[in-house]
Amino acid sequence: MADTLEIIAEQVKKCALCGLCENRTNAVPGEGSSSAKLMFIGEAPGKNEDEQGRPFVGAAGKLLTEALEEAGLAREDVFITNVVKCRPPDNRVPTDQERESCRQYLERQIKLINPRIICILGRTAYEAMLKGGSITSNRGKLIRHENRYYFLTVHPAAVIYNPQLKSVFRKDMVNLVDALKKLESKKSSLEDYL
Ligand code: URA
Repeated sequence: MADTLEIIAEQVKKCALCGLCENRTNAVPGEGSSSAKLMFIGEAPGKNEDEQGRPFVGAAGKLLTEALEEAGLAREDVFITNVVKCRPPDNRVPTDQERESCRQYLERQIKLINPRIICILGRTAYEAMLKGGSITSNRGKLIRHENRYYFLTVHPAAVIYNPQLKSVFRKDMVNLVDALKKLESKKSSLEDYL
């Protein structure tokens, strides 16, 4: 049977591959367009996401949705998910083992959606997707890795703790949507962004 986002979501909801399943209210597979050109990857569901079974629906999600809209894209146009699909206790950073258990779901989602750009939100997703490094030196840049384009920015939750980052995050969303448009129209050289 061909893989689909619905199959993945059903498997995630029943998943017991790591201990996070024991305390979850709802698993959070991710949501959005199956033909999204842009995919966002965060860290893991928080309290609101665990309650609703949907990604980025709390304060960080509001910030993301608003910045995206300001940049000209609706939330429904993109696909939003996390490295880990169940909430870690007290919102701690997911362990390597939890990340590895969940990895197959994320890889299958990326393969099916095949987005033009994957936007990495913060350190955990950066480590999971690109082995990490300094966010400060690579933030706001389009990075080519294994035939895919990644755009790295700060996690919206970090913006809540440090309001000075708000303008940085909003500008990043504008540049991200701009890079996507240019990639789509193929009018300009990507070298401008690399
Ligand atoms: N933070 C994340 O990393 N993901 C969510 O879905 C919500 C908050």
